Amino acid sequence: MPVESVFPRLEPLLPSVQKPIQYVGGELNSQVKDWDSAEVRWALMYPDAYEVGLPNQGVQILYEVLNEREGVLAERTYSVWPDLEAIMREHGIPQFTVDGHRPVGAFDILGVSFSTELGYTNLLTALDLAGLPLHAVDRREEDPIVLAGGHAAFNPEPIADFVDAAVLGDGEEIVLKITEVIREWKREGRPEGRDGLLHRLAVSGGVYVPKFYDVSYLPDGRIQRVAPNRPGVPWQIVKHTVMDLDAWPYPKTPLVPLAETVHERFSVEIFRGCTRGCRFCQAGMITRPVRERSITTVGEMVQQGLKASGFNEVGLLSLSSADHSEIGDMAKGLADQYEGTQTSLSLPSTRVDAFNITLANEFSRNGRRSGLTFAPEGGSERMRKVINKMVSEDDLIRTVTTAYENGWRQVKLYFMCGLPTEEDQDVMEIAGMARRVIQAGRDATGSRDIRCTVSIGGFVPKPHTPFQWAAQADHETVDRRLRALRDELRQDKQYGRAIGLRYHDGKPSIIEGLLSRGDRRVGAVIQKVWEDGGRFDGWSEHFSYERWTAGAEKAFAGLQVDVDWYTTREREEVEVLPWDHLDAGLDREWLWQDWQEAVDGGAEVEDCRWTPCYDCGVCPSMGTEIQIGPTGKKLLPLTVVNG
Ligand code: SF4
Repeated sequence: MPVESVFPRLEPLLPSVQKPIQYVGGELNSQVKDWDSAEVRWALMYPDAYEVGLPNQGVQILYEVLNEREGVLAERTYSVWPDLEAIMREHGIPQFTVDGHRPVGAFDILGVSFSTELGYTNLLTALDLAGLPLHAVDRREEDPIVLAGGHAAFNPEPIADFVDAAVLGDGEEIVLKITEVIREWKREGRPEGRDGLLHRLAVSGGVYVPKFYDVSYLPDGRIQRVAPNRPGVPWQIVKHTVMDLDAWPYPKTPLVPLAETVHERFSVEIFRGCTRGCRFCQAGMITRPVRERSITTVGEMVQQGLKASGFNEVGLLSLSSADHSEIGDMAKGLADQYEGTQTSLSLPSTRVDAFNITLANEFSRNGRRSGLTFAPEGGSERMRKVINKMVSEDDLIRTVTTAYENGWRQVKLYFMCGLPTEEDQDVMEIAGMARRVIQAGRDATGSRDIRCTVSIGGFVPKPHTPFQWAAQADHETVDRRLRALRDELRQDKQYGRAIGLRYHDGKPSIIEGLLSRGDRRVGAVIQKVWEDGGRFDGWSEHFSYERWTAGAEKAFAGLQVDVDWYTTREREEVEVLPWDHLDAGLDREWLWQDWQEAVDGGAEVEDCRWTPCYDCGVCPSMGTEIQIGPTGKKLLPLTVVNG
């Protein structure tokens, strides 16, 4: 059946909305494939505004991987701002893709990538605008399968009512497997309809279909058990791990945005995973083990990506880029190649050591030495032991001294507030550290023109981490500690003016905590908040704590649970956690032991890249292994393509 573009109806309305260019598509390297000759059609969504969604690596990779396949079509859709939402409702225009402006409801599958739980209300807006029932059980035969992925999908229970399925882990291979299951099912004449397709996906063991699992509760509100309710459906759903990143060198042809976006550069992921073992870090835990892309593949990707896009900035991405076994050669090789050109290189990097300064120097050959960011995360030595971030204050001072000596003038320090076992004093020590940083800069340069910016985020305990059992600090405590720190810095005549302090109040963290560790009962809260106007909750100007607490009060009425129960309550080892049936590979006993060690003062866990395996469980249970260099290969020769 031909599917018509909504663009002729949309275009005349765009002059009345903000930033209309974000809805028109047609970016360099975007694709519009023939609808009728495609057998399987994906709509890929990033549930935030275009400016945030377009640069998302996950969506760009899957968009290309899928479109490269014969008979497969993939288009992108993003959240529309409330001004366009109102107009679309008024004119009956459905949620559309920016590529072909096709209605999302016409696709076979809507894949939504969640980086943060605060995007959940935007999912509901998109479903509703697409004309899809909000609840998966109400969907009709012809409606797309709604599939969640991304880091937040490691606990999809709060959105279990709204999605048909979820996948855990790396997307490249599983989207193709899902595509083949759909293709087969369609070719066979759609046996047993929608339910038959979902069952085929579920029995594969790699796709979670929430409706095939029943959750029962104890009288006190805790979960009693989660059990499959269909034959052949596994008790545990496993995450996907791509083992050879060199075999998946995407994006090859990165999308070049038309409207302003948060990152305008070509990003190459130089490795996936992190085994440093920071106890708060969900990304590090769920992406294990470390798998490096080889130096030669990185070099080829940079060359190809710049040629295909015309970008003049390259970012080398990963969870801790300076840890790549060949980062020194890579940085020097790329810096040599692009020296004297307009191409700049960047390395989002947080490791606190002098080696990082050497790298930063290489990368700034073509640019200014503006700011360097380090993340001690915890204000006191005690706190850093608890979170397994083994950085001493002296290490930090040595590093920043080297940075200032090398011409850097701005240092940014990132911390968290509300960490387990934290006391007021731990946060106040941030002030002392910032003062020493300024003094080190003044001593190293003989100048008073030195700045240090301290950014503080509220800690949110996340599933699949050792802190998954922890009590989250209430927002009053977090706010009180941050206010005290602010007052201390304001009163400081000697250093105060050189130190900038950035922080948010603790309320959004509580809602993020509710959504991160929530179970299926939290879905009703999300729906109430959305019905009450909740949109773009990750944006402080749109977020309303009162709307969330009011929604929770209504949704939890008559139940044994409330927002505190999900957030500030510490869990016991025996409690069934909502995500226990979703297997990220981490051994539950290891996680518990690591949590106990944190509470007992924080025995250090080293990085298994360089020390023996300490049995976190991932490699044996997932059939994976650490993959690191050195490969002994060199980056050169490359041809400079962007002069
Ligand atoms: S199983 Fe061992 S080697 Fe693999 S990620 Fe865990 S600690 Fe590291």
